[in-house]
Amino acid sequence: MSDNCIFCKIARGEIPSRKVYEDDEIFAFHDINPIAPVHFLVIPKRHVASLQEVAASDVPLLGRMQVLIPRLALEQGCRPGPEGGFRLVANNGADGGQEVPHLHYHVIGGPRPWKRN
Ligand code: AMP
Ligand code: ZN
Repeated sequence: MSDNCIFCKIARGEIPSRKVYEDDEIFAFHDINPIAPVHFLVIPKRHVASLQEVAASDVPLLGRMQVLIPRLALEQGCRPGPEGGFRLVANNGADGGQEVPHLHYHVIGGPRPWKRN
């Protein structure tokens, strides 16, 4: 937990968000500035700054997130199969273009065109 982290506050419900999913370890919510018809973020509830900070003990959590993401993508309107799909983006650190320093996966999809390719 990090007191001043906006995504920790969202995971704790202290800042409102449009929730997509929640369990003991994982929280997902719609991006406030979507670039495509489907654009939500998936985060660990525990504060982890980026993939630069993960350890071997995080493998089960990261695996659960990766297995959950395709299910949530379908529920949020991404089309199934090779004709459909989604983009999964994790920006890490300043050189990676990360603006919020709490690990998050962008799940981006839905019918094109998107605002950004
Ligand atoms: P990144 O550049 O990968 O760190 O992306 C941060 C993302 O968080 C951006 O796409 C923002 O639109 C999004 N974002 C920032 N604040 C909020 C918020 N309060 N609720 C939902 N999404 C947010
Ligand atoms: Zn945090």
